[in-house]
Amino acid sequence: MAKIEKTDAEWREELDPETFRVTRQAGTERPFSHPGFPKTPGVFTCACCGAELFAQDNKFESHCGWPSFDATKAGAPVAETRDTTHGMVRTEVHCDDCGAHLGHVFPDGPRETTGMRYCINGVSIRFQPDDGAVET
Ligand SMILES: [Zn+2]
Repeated sequence: MAKIEKTDAEWREELDPETFRVTRQAGTERPFSHPGFPKTPGVFTCACCGAELFAQDNKFESHCGWPSFDATKAGAPVAETRDTTHGMVRTEVHCDDCGAHLGHVFPDGPRETTGMRYCINGVSIRFQPDDGAVET
């Protein structure tokens, strides 16, 4: 059960339309549509509730068109569900604190680390640099 529960109308007020579509309606942003994130030290947080989800150290260049991570941040509230939409069996990942859809996880990540690829919509996460300033 999500710890943060808001109605669609409430989320719609807080989020921009693309973030609402992706996180609350399980949408997918167009590949390569997100401008990317700084490579400086920091964490990636849930665009909806601010929970810390991924560390900068977990990010890698997958060239798949979406931000990719080989693991979640230790203790991050990232939960998985089986997704059989679009004629595929995939593992969907979402923020367990607020239910925001993040993306999917695939077992084709870097073999030298975890072998996992968390393929995450850029609009589902925000970058929080270690110096405290907020960038998107
Ligand atoms: Zn969240």
